[in-house]
Amino acid sequence: MNSVAPQAVDRRTAELSANLDALLARIDAACAAAGRDPGSVRLLPVTKFFPASDVEILYRIGRREFGESREQEATGKVVELAGLRDIQWHMIGRLQRNKARHVARWAHTVHSVDSERLATALDAAATAALDAGERTEPVRILLQVSLDNDPDRGGVSPENIGPLADRVAAAPGLRLAGLMAIPPLGAESDSSFARLATLHTLLLADHPDAKELSAGMSGDLESAIEHGSTVVRVGTALMGARPITSA
Ligand SMILES: *Cc1c(COP(=O)(O)O)cnc(C)c1O
Repeated sequence: MNSVAPQAVDRRTAELSANLDALLARIDAACAAAGRDPGSVRLLPVTKFFPASDVEILYRIGRREFGESREQEATGKVVELAGLRDIQWHMIGRLQRNKARHVARWAHTVHSVDSERLATALDAAATAALDAGERTEPVRILLQVSLDNDPDRGGVSPENIGPLADRVAAAPGLRLAGLMAIPPLGAESDSSFARLATLHTLLLADHPDAKELSAGMSGDLESAIEHGSTVVRVGTALMGARPITSA
């Protein structure tokens, strides 16, 4: 952490450790309330808008998975932190097809696949990256589901999950791993996550390995865990407030 003063690193380490402990306790409590094994839900720290030095601190206190939502910012951090072994980067934000080539170099998992065109682009990019030795495993793919049928906010509509899942499952560069959703603005999280759980059950009937359910953020992770989330994507409750932004 060359550019950050040691005292600042110590301060931030204490802050992130305290936030992390509180968050893990919150996840455990939610699992207990839902009658679920605490080991059945993972925390994915979302580090968007925070510097690579924060990722490095979280790495040193034991985290290995990190979520990013903007391709350019993520690619920069991936390059900067290339020396940290065994990091798994998750792309959780909307992805344009022309960025697939970059993302396929570093993404362990992409949470935001919502069209066959994007799946096709990622498959081609992942296959090229595998051939070039830039990665050793297919890209794990979660299908982002739209729970409000608003195409502007991203996500595949529920009736198109089946065909998209089949397309991803057949792609040699990709591995279908499950579903992801963000509750619609203003919607009640309980009913949104209940609906997502039903769609996940339907998917599992045809794709029994697609067990991941990426649901829950800082404000609604208890509800998501009650409805079967296997990974919660948490930014604010761990990192602190992000700068004001539209992303
Ligand atoms: C930023 C972001 C999160 C984290 O949200 P918080 O409310 O800060 O926990 C989760 N998922 C996605 C897709 C995000 O873009």
